[in-house]
Amino acid sequence: MGLFNKFFSLFKRKKEDKSSTKDTENLEKDNLKEETTLSKELKKDTEQNLKIKPEPEPEPEPEPERKGLFNNIFSKKKKETLNKGLKKSNKSFFSKLNKLISGKSKIDASVLDNLEEVLISSDVGVATTLKIIDKIEARVSEEKYSNLNELNILLKAEIASLLIQDENELNLADDSFKNKPHVIMVVGVNGVGKTTTIGKLANKYKKLGLSVVIGAADTFRAAAIDQLVTWANRVDVPIVKQNMGSDPASVAFDTLNYAKNKNADIVLIDTAGRLHNKVNLMNELSKIKRVMDKVIDNAPHDVMLVLDGSTGQNAFIQAKEFTNATEVTSLAITKLDGTAKGGVVIGISDEFKIPVKYIGVGEALEDLQEFNKLEFIDSFFD
Ligand code: GDP
Ligand code: GDP
Ligand code: MG
Repeated sequence: MGLFNKFFSLFKRKKEDKSSTKDTENLEKDNLKEETTLSKELKKDTEQNLKIKPEPEPEPEPEPERKGLFNNIFSKKKKETLNKGLKKSNKSFFSKLNKLISGKSKIDASVLDNLEEVLISSDVGVATTLKIIDKIEARVSEEKYSNLNELNILLKAEIASLLIQDENELNLADDSFKNKPHVIMVVGVNGVGKTTTIGKLANKYKKLGLSVVIGAADTFRAAAIDQLVTWANRVDVPIVKQNMGSDPASVAFDTLNYAKNKNADIVLIDTAGRLHNKVNLMNELSKIKRVMDKVIDNAPHDVMLVLDGSTGQNAFIQAKEFTNATEVTSLAITKLDGTAKGGVVIGISDEFKIPVKYIGVGEALEDLQEFNKLEFIDSFFD
């Protein structure tokens, strides 16, 4: 199938998705029921194989003891929460995978072709999908894999090798935490979950005993400021704000000065996502960054792009726009509780080579998790 056809069928599928959510839900339910003995066998087999076979991709995790405070934020999170949060994603990907395998006896061209469609329809993205297929194809021919039971293992390994684990984790426990305050500027288009994510992050950091300051640099709508104030009150952290319509750079400037004077640990800066024009976006973000750097050296230390994981190709487009406009250093992917397609996490992390730091799995304060690629892949498959 050519690339063009793929795009075409992708968009066609998108349309159908929208027009019949009910049908899709039913289909997914049906697919789940179809979890036949074969798939259960496959699961068991996979687990066994995973134990016996050394993975080609060396995975140092799980670390027996996590290093810094920040690594511990979500380490208490039970895996069930992640599974629950990603439930819809699992259902979809795993059932599609099973459907693809049922009735086949070996990994052949038609299986790979179908796999391609499953990955693309799970929002993994065309470029990453083709990369995965190429690698699987190569390994199947070189290593003489043909057993379908091994497909899961191969897939997991390839996906793991594509996902970037965050190497620059903020570590407050030792000297690597040099920036005080550590400034995180949160960017992304309207509605993706920036403000909510800031509220959740403030809560996490505060629970660690860190002093947090929030800056309301989304000055475009009064409601945006009010919403952030509500979160700040709920979490009980100070917020620096000005009136609606004021210069976001000026709010950032005030916030950093306040945080510096209070000797705060963390600053979270909310921004507006309304700028559709790339030049405007670039200018505004550059200006905010320039002004921050005046107050605190090298601030912002992290530019976190928030993407709505349920928007599929839109999330890719937004990632492209924002990475062109500014240097994005981390990703938070939200609303994975509300999507049947978690593949966007895999595709975006691979295509843009930016680590996914957090995932949002609901609207509540606790519904933010530190991203762990192996747990994520397990949830995606199991
Ligand atoms: P912003 O415009 O980027 O600041 O987005 P908001 O933080 O205002 O969020 C927009 C909507 O998405 C709100 O209704 C949030 O409650 C919702 N939201 C944010 N994160 C998540 C998530 O992880 N899961 C779900 N289900 N909803 C979310
Ligand atoms: P430009 O002249 O519009 O390019 O703005 P700047 O980059 O100099 O700063 C943008 C905004 O940040 C200004 O409108 C100010 O509100 C604020 N700002 C920057 N530098 C200072 C400063 O030294 N003192 C104060 N009070 N505000 C500043
Ligand atoms: Mg907002």
